[in-house]
Amino acid sequence: MSHADPAAALNGAQTGHICSGCNKGIRTGDQLHAYATLYEGDGWVLRRIWCDECGDTAIESGTFGADEATLSAIFWNHRLVGVQITDRSRPEDGERV
Ligand SMILES: [Zn+2]
Repeated sequence: MSHADPAAALNGAQTGHICSGCNKGIRTGDQLHAYATLYEGDGWVLRRIWCDECGDTAIESGTFGADEATLSAIFWNHRLVGVQITDRSRPEDGERV
């Protein structure tokens, strides 16, 4: 599943509830934004979450070799539901490091 759809892969994924931008707690029913990466051989991994006010909805500069996605979702009992992809950077895009 190296290139599985991140929305499908992360729907229902467990997540923390502290915004990476303002440290506010995100509550059940709130919208949040998240950033996730996929490297060859691993599944999608959530890297950061933000509350609705701080959320990043676009990837500024992609990382070469990584599949990256930003997404919006509803926070529900420490899980993501209703995941929607807001931006995507494919492994062949972005800057070599
Ligand atoms: Zn925030």
